[in-house]
Amino acid sequence: MAAIPHFINGEISEQGNNTIPVINPATGETVSEVMVADQSVVDAAVMSAKSALPTWRNKEPAKRAAILREYHSLLQKNSDDICALITEEHGKTLVDAKGELQRGIENVEYATGIAEHLKGEHSRSVGPDIDSWSELAPVGVCAGITPFNFPAMVPMWMYPLAIACGNTFVLKPSEKVPSAAIKIAALFKEAGLPDGVLNVVQGDGTTSKLLLGHDEIKAASFVGSTPVARSIYSNASERGKRVQALGGAKNHAVILPDADLEAASNAIMGAAYGSCGQRCMALSVVVSVGEDTADKMAKILSEKVASLKIGPGDQNLDMGPVNSAPQLEKILDLIDQGEKQGATLLVDGRQHPSYQSPGYFLGGTLFDHVKPGMSVYDEEIFGPVLCLVRAETAAEAMEIVNGSQYGNGSCIFTRDGYSARQYADEVEAGMVGINVPLPVPVANHSFGGWKDSRFGDLAAYGPDGVAFYTRRKTITERWLSPNANSKMDFAFPGSSK
Ligand code: NAD
Repeated sequence: MAAIPHFINGEISEQGNNTIPVINPATGETVSEVMVADQSVVDAAVMSAKSALPTWRNKEPAKRAAILREYHSLLQKNSDDICALITEEHGKTLVDAKGELQRGIENVEYATGIAEHLKGEHSRSVGPDIDSWSELAPVGVCAGITPFNFPAMVPMWMYPLAIACGNTFVLKPSEKVPSAAIKIAALFKEAGLPDGVLNVVQGDGTTSKLLLGHDEIKAASFVGSTPVARSIYSNASERGKRVQALGGAKNHAVILPDADLEAASNAIMGAAYGSCGQRCMALSVVVSVGEDTADKMAKILSEKVASLKIGPGDQNLDMGPVNSAPQLEKILDLIDQGEKQGATLLVDGRQHPSYQSPGYFLGGTLFDHVKPGMSVYDEEIFGPVLCLVRAETAAEAMEIVNGSQYGNGSCIFTRDGYSARQYADEVEAGMVGINVPLPVPVANHSFGGWKDSRFGDLAAYGPDGVAFYTRRKTITERWLSPNANSKMDFAFPGSSK
């Protein structure tokens, strides 16, 4: 069985002795193996990126943008092939894979505007014959470590903009979904990207640690679970690296009594169960305000959840399998705990016929009367399980939402503008939806949660991405007139003289 390789210095590389099986979650069968980069492979990738840096950082932004434009077009042309790889290794439906890829490509599009994003600022006459301006210089060799749930989009939050800013890059994708990254890296070369500017090393957490520990890596972007994000943030920043580490989530929707409950529940269904709940912005908790609202939501959602159509991703039903056997075990364990801790199981995914098929299928699951302190509420489930929480007032709902350790996304459903505005003001989350269930910012904004959903000051992509992948340099310049009399001055320079 051919192993999925690395991509180093513009070439496929099969260095290294160890491999990890790659499994199709719709069948549970091993479809391939992926190489695991050891220290020598990581060194080769980082040194290739270092060698490519001096020429790439000096290439005019407009010429970098021309390569990105060609890349954008190649990604569109190859979209079917990329999405087939995503569905085979991740399990999500093809239509969902297309949505993911499209959102990734939008980041490439944003990066094509790099000449504008790097424009800098200029001040004339800050002193006698003195002008001053700021430039955004690249950081150097950057690393990206990405999770299994978005095999193309999350890498594309990182490397297109990093590279557009004049950096070179080493990506380590998730070992569970390694193929899409190789495909999209090879297309970048085809678009004209010089060798070494983008490298991909395959492997698991051990490879991430080797990459992050490398002295030549100056900035690291991580997306994954909160415990890993927290430790990567503290280790990498202690080593003097710039680091942004996005972690897990528990995203809440608040339903006010005046909301259009049918429209809200339709929106919630896709956000809770799309991609089998394996999105960092998945809605996993609904807080209904008032018993009447809560009863109605429980009834409407029960019917919709029970009728979810589930099967292999290439059949384009409502949802595919979860990604792995350990992930399924964890979800089943949390469902058990939910029952034992007193939540009401309205729809039990273990009763869905797909649960009996080969692969890692589980039906949509719905709990009511969930409370903070129960494991299904406190822990990120990352599966097709939605928890209904009941609050008496909007203020109580806000207290529940803001009590969460996470603060990625949050949304409210209401017909009242003032309540919506107040919610947006007070909720402690980085991304807020008003009658929008998955408020994932578009590429010209930035993506980032609060609290344990993100470590590091800057969010991903968009304007924050440009700030993360550049260092500000401010130049102050004087050109004396040929007739000027220069003299010594020992006072601190100021503009008031
Ligand atoms: P994960 O943390 O297990 O793995 C993420 C990446 O880190 C993988 O490439 C993995 O190989 C590597 N890794 C694993 N252990 C490591 C370690 N000890 N040190 C260094 N690297 C390590 O996450 P996952 O299961 O792949 O993805 C799901 C998680 O990602 C969920 O918690 C989800 O909420 C989160 N996520 C967050 C966002 C966001 O934007 N906040 C986006 C997508 C996914």
